[in-house]
Amino acid sequence: MTEALDTDYLVIGSGIAGLNFALLAAEHGRVVVVTKKKPADTNTNWAQGGVAAVLAPDDSVDLHIQDTLTAGDGLCDRAVVEMCVSEGAAQVQRLLDVGVRLARDPAGALDLGREGAHSRNRVVHWQDVTGREIQRALIAAVTAHANITVLEDHIAVDLLSMAKYGGDPACFGAYVLDTSSGNVKTICARATVLATGGTGKVYVYTSNPDVATGDGIAMAYRLGAAVCDLEFVQFHPTVLFHPHARNFLLSEAMRGEGGVLRLANGDTFMEHYHPMKSLASRDIVARAIDNEIKKSGADSVFLDMTHLDPAFVRGRFPNIHERCLGLGIDITKQPIPVVPAAHYMCGGIKTDMRGATTISGLYAIGECAFTGLHGANRLASNSLLEGMVYSTHAAEAVRDAVRHRPSQVAPWSTGDATDSQDQIVVALNWEEIRRFMWSYLGIVRSDKRIERARRRIEILRDEIREYYIDFKVTSDLIELRNLALVAHLVIESARRRKESRGLHYTLDYPDKLPEARHSELQLTNGPRG
Ligand SMILES: Cc1cc2nc3c(=O)[nH]c(=O)nc-3n(C[C@H](O)[C@H](O)[C@H](O)COP(=O)(O)OP(=O)(O)OC[C@H]3O[C@@H](n4cnc5c(N)ncnc54)[C@H](O)[C@@H]3O)c2cc1C
Repeated sequence: MTEALDTDYLVIGSGIAGLNFALLAAEHGRVVVVTKKKPADTNTNWAQGGVAAVLAPDDSVDLHIQDTLTAGDGLCDRAVVEMCVSEGAAQVQRLLDVGVRLARDPAGALDLGREGAHSRNRVVHWQDVTGREIQRALIAAVTAHANITVLEDHIAVDLLSMAKYGGDPACFGAYVLDTSSGNVKTICARATVLATGGTGKVYVYTSNPDVATGDGIAMAYRLGAAVCDLEFVQFHPTVLFHPHARNFLLSEAMRGEGGVLRLANGDTFMEHYHPMKSLASRDIVARAIDNEIKKSGADSVFLDMTHLDPAFVRGRFPNIHERCLGLGIDITKQPIPVVPAAHYMCGGIKTDMRGATTISGLYAIGECAFTGLHGANRLASNSLLEGMVYSTHAAEAVRDAVRHRPSQVAPWSTGDATDSQDQIVVALNWEEIRRFMWSYLGIVRSDKRIERARRRIEILRDEIREYYIDFKVTSDLIELRNLALVAHLVIESARRRKESRGLHYTLDYPDKLPEARHSELQLTNGPRG
């Protein structure tokens, strides 16, 4: 059975970008937000550090711009950086207006944390659970808005395009699987907004929650949208290493507040890699840890907070303190075992400064988008800011979106597909992709490793394609298909970059080329979709 819905704006994703867009766009149109699990199942909900903005008397827009450009290693778009950084203070005010609580100092001013590669204190936060607080406030505001409908447990399968009807490939909505009923709905809209977040699950070790399978990037690419710079995967240096804790991140702010990285024997090592030691940028710290672990064969290195005032540590990092205590680690008394893990996708669906993709009617905002802000390496706490800035601009841009839908829209057809008897195929392929991506497209790459990954992903994608045709869609199958395509795109992007820059480090080309170039892929002139 196919149910058809019609709205002004279809938003896919309920993180900071999707929900802030929904709130703003609902002032001039009807909004449907679909989200594949519960509304708070997002990367946003897990953000610990906070939002970067120029608010301190000793800070300036120029300094924040400079820090962003330095981290981005020659690939940032300066106009985009200037736009995002200049809007920082206004976006923090917007968060307060929506009802987000932010920590204050004893004098009542916003408390500003310091994070790696920032030259000033400029990160507003709510304890160490800033993302959870933002998510809470946005969900409350969206739920109260009469113009917004949220459909949870609804996963977008593919985008609807006029190309199928002989027109240009304008987008007019999406097929969406209601995972509780098994029905695929047709949702048509004047503008379709991808706010589907990150791609961390492409790797076996990640700080991201299960929803981060790169669905938006895969759907946009299949439709013919340009994607850009997908080789720039940021690995967070410090994720807890513990058999009973999955994906638990130890915020960069812990090093910002004085935490020190050590080997198992207590020696420090970051002084051998960078003058900023434990506060060097993420890529440098992650590579240093990776190198030390490979050199010694140890399972992890350690983040040491034991020299800091225990009351301060408990007060500043209550969530981390409690979580680690539950696992038998008192962070005020014991160093914490840590490893790097895939954390943030700097590349994504190419957009202009208003969030418009290269496909008419289709917008992309938040982590799934490539705007030019992050370049080859994201500066910590710039991504929540980017989500706010671009959701604001896109909510203005969609006012001009024209309706593209044809008079009759083909309903979802299952053809001869049957229910799968073989779920194990999905589980095994999923596991295999994530493991070889970690080994071959991880922190340190080489031509040989990339080529090995390329051969494997092509075999697996053929298998997944057959499976997709033969069996009825399920959320696992949709995610596996997308994950495999994103893995393929990361591999193809990495294959094209014959240099080491920012987060892309390859043993075969350790130096940077004189000219900084983006690696853009598009189905029409790029690799197979
Ligand atoms: C542990 C952790 C800590 C972080 N800390 C910080 C920080 O301190 N500061 C900072 O700036 N950034 C931080 N980040 C990064 C930041 O949280 C994310 O980049 C940002 O929240 C992304 O927001 P988003 O709205 O783009 O996507 P998300 O918040 O990830 O939301 C994506 C949404 O899309 C939905 N979705 C995906 N695919 C589909 C589909 N096919 N159909 C329907 N729905 C779909 C998901 O279910 C989810 O609702 C952190 C990230 C992590 C994981």
